[in-house]
Amino acid sequence: MRARGFVASLALAACFNSFALGQGKTDLMNPDPVIPPVASLTNGTWLKGDLHTHSWHSEGATNKSITKMIDFSKSAGLDYLCITDHDNHVKGDVSHNTWTDPEFKPNDPSFILLYGAEWTTNRGHGNVFSAKPYDHQRLYDVRDQRDVVIGQVKKDLGIHLSANHPSGKNHFGYSYDLIDSIEVWNSALWSRNANAIMIWDDMLKSGRRLTGRGGSDTHHSIPETPDQETKYSRQARASNIGTPTTWVFATGRNAQAVVDALTNGRVAVSANPYAPRVEFYADLDQDGKMDMMMGDNAKPTGKPVKFRVQLAGKTAADGTYTVHVIKDGNKFGDFQANSSQPSVEFTDAPATTGHTYYRVEVEGPGTPYPQVPNSMSLSGNMVGLSNPIYFNYDPNF
Ligand SMILES: [Zn+2]
Ligand SMILES: [Zn+2]
Repeated sequence: MRARGFVASLALAACFNSFALGQGKTDLMNPDPVIPPVASLTNGTWLKGDLHTHSWHSEGATNKSITKMIDFSKSAGLDYLCITDHDNHVKGDVSHNTWTDPEFKPNDPSFILLYGAEWTTNRGHGNVFSAKPYDHQRLYDVRDQRDVVIGQVKKDLGIHLSANHPSGKNHFGYSYDLIDSIEVWNSALWSRNANAIMIWDDMLKSGRRLTGRGGSDTHHSIPETPDQETKYSRQARASNIGTPTTWVFATGRNAQAVVDALTNGRVAVSANPYAPRVEFYADLDQDGKMDMMMGDNAKPTGKPVKFRVQLAGKTAADGTYTVHVIKDGNKFGDFQANSSQPSVEFTDAPATTGHTYYRVEVEGPGTPYPQVPNSMSLSGNMVGLSNPIYFNYDPNF
């Protein structure tokens, strides 16, 4: 038995090595990795959706059919949705529950539906996002295994894995090297996300490029008739699909483009579908033309870079927006914007050694969300946030 265990651990070590090598191929002889060119800033379209939602296939969810969820999303102007039902009460068999529901129509050209589930384990919750069906059972079956084993399964499945509510109940208790994104904004209630943001900044400071995303985690629907009213109806009027809304700059109107944009960090989060979208750009050579956007990574030249924050969409006619700029986890500066001047610019020279990131959070007047009437009060002043613009991040790490 002893020898067998030894062989097994050797096999695991081999798995771990191939996993680690697969993740990064940093040449030890060349410690200065080549950063690939930035993708086009114009070849794409902004799509909005929700990446953390539950249908009646999740235990504890009420009045939430898939058709109802899609109709609600369309009414709020959303382009995509991922229904992330819990997998534990179906013992991992998501593919014969949510995905075989006749109302689950991933090929409907009028609305993008991702494949996914909430991986619900003893060590917390994570969401899977995929453009196509994958073998979720395999991920469920290794949930209590060592992280190196899970990492290999995740790689085999080719999925995007994301940490859910990272500082709350059922926080993601696995290595963050397994994930591609982190839920920095869970539900309409903004205030409880402060610790998630702190964890995100810590990961970014460590050299990890990790996409920040939102997710409403909605479990309930607003009743259509008074007899459907339950103790959960109040919750549905306060936090529902779209609180918050995650925007992705996708190269096409399809599921794969949504997942790719999410992985690449071309992502912003807004309090709801009608709140302004935070766009964040950088002009590397100060020629007046923006060269990169959030999620992108470039080599610093040592010269100053001009940054631009743009509030896209409808801004409140009266009221001021405050743009908080965060550099490497620290406050860099605060800038003001309003409806007649919905963009701000600032300049800074990222260091040529080590890595640097900038990201922004925007506070200001709330935007009404008629379909979820009580959400605005929970979101408080929080309007939206960007993903980071990165300098000198090792692309092979
Ligand atoms: Zn959860
Ligand atoms: Zn959930």
